[in-house]
Amino acid sequence: MSVLVVAEHHGGKWHKMSWDTLVAGQTVAALLKTELSALILGAQIEPLAAELATHRVDRVFVAEHELLSEYSSDGYTIAIQQVIGRVSPDLILFPHSYFVRDYGPKLAARLNRSFLNDVIDINVKENCIRFTRQLFQGKINADVTFSDDLPHFISIQSGAYRGDTLEPTGNFAPVEKIDVTIDPTDIRTRYGEWFRESKSKVDLSSAEIIVSVGRGIKDPKHIPIAKGLAEALGGELAASRPVCDNGWLPLERQVGSSGQTVSPKLYLAIGISGAIQHVVGMKGAEKIAAINQDAGAPIFEIADYGIIGDLFEVVPALTEAILAIKED
Ligand SMILES: Cc1cc2nc3c(=O)[nH]c(=O)nc-3n(C[C@H](O)[C@H](O)[C@H](O)COP(=O)(O)OP(=O)(O)OC[C@H]3O[C@@H](n4cnc5c(N)ncnc54)[C@H](O)[C@@H]3O)c2cc1C
Repeated sequence: MSVLVVAEHHGGKWHKMSWDTLVAGQTVAALLKTELSALILGAQIEPLAAELATHRVDRVFVAEHELLSEYSSDGYTIAIQQVIGRVSPDLILFPHSYFVRDYGPKLAARLNRSFLNDVIDINVKENCIRFTRQLFQGKINADVTFSDDLPHFISIQSGAYRGDTLEPTGNFAPVEKIDVTIDPTDIRTRYGEWFRESKSKVDLSSAEIIVSVGRGIKDPKHIPIAKGLAEALGGELAASRPVCDNGWLPLERQVGSSGQTVSPKLYLAIGISGAIQHVVGMKGAEKIAAINQDAGAPIFEIADYGIIGDLFEVVPALTEAILAIKED
């Protein structure tokens, strides 16, 4: 069994999920007691390849081509297929990025394989590899095994493994260039303007206290209830994606895989179910508290403190109590 991690960069800057995926690769390679390689694609990427080579991998493969200077699903699919043909990895881990969602299933289909996306955990028992992914917005964890032939294609959910803890080792793994052949006529897609993940005028990442509001708030007219609690605590107001998608709060206050990643001392989730895409953005908080009327909400699985109740009763009462303490 050999493991290959496909690292992603955008115009020479690392995609942060590359490091999460690399940690996943290191974890599974250690469990399988096998080699770990990493692959990087692009043009003029020697400095990135050299950096990757210092991060506890056994080998770095570089697929360099002018037609890979810009991302295209055709270019990436063709290049990675050729790399697979050359190095024959058994397990290929990708970050669950927008690019991978675009080209990953196509690549797997070309090789007549399935593509397992959004994996949050990998276990090995008696030489059988089990991949965990969440269903129904995190209500169920499903363990999945492959029944088709190698190689297996897997994408790793953002934040499932802690790439931010990864440090360069000071040792350089061998870097091997792999020639790939791509013809300009192979690239059949032309891309418009890239989607930009919500960027912040508000820097939630440095906030010590965050009060975050979810769809349970039901109507924008109720947002002041959460805002009042945030102000009483001297914290920042944040939100889950549906709240921002509905325009109840600006996008820059969104926490999660397509929003900001935060690590406050206290994260208070109000009317938030705890879907994985939200949790990956806030699970680094020192303490997590949740107010939710559903005792089975997944947020309670990661909460240090929980109140099962109606936020419309609990939040005003809590705000009042905090203000009373402050007045004393
Ligand atoms: C590619 C992708 C990226 C995504 N990125 C993000 C992201 O960055 N951030 C993010 O948050 N989501 C993201 N999502 C969406 C995510 O999957 C969930 O849909 C979302 O997090 C759910 O938001 P929520 O918890 O506010 O709403 P819901 O899941 O609807 O939960 C509402 C909760 O409120 C509770 N509730 C209702 N009424 C009350 C009440 N009166 N009192 C107390 N509790 C109450 C309910 O019990 C429920 O648990 C993404 C999804 C995809 C597919």
